[in-house]
Amino acid sequence: MKKCEKCKAEVMEGANFCHTCGEALTSVAESIKKEDRRGAMLEVVLALIDKIKDPNDLEVLNSLLKKLKP
Ligand SMILES: [Zn+2]
Repeated sequence: MKKCEKCKAEVMEGANFCHTCGEALTSVAESIKKEDRRGAMLEVVLALIDKIKDPNDLEVLNSLLKKLKP
C-alpha cells in the first residue's frame, strides 16, 4: 500500500487515482488532470478506460467522462 499525498488515505499499489479525494497518483493520471483541452482529455480517458482494470480508477475516469460529455 502507498499513501495519497493529498489526503493521506491508503491507496492500492499501482492505482492511478486516490479513491478518496481523486488526486492523481501517477504521471499518467497527472497528465489526464492537467489536460485542459476537453477533446484531447476525452480521448485520453477513453484510451485509458480500456486498459484500466482497477475499479477505483474506473470510477474516477467515469466521473471525469460525465463532466466532459455535454
Ligand atoms: Zn487522496
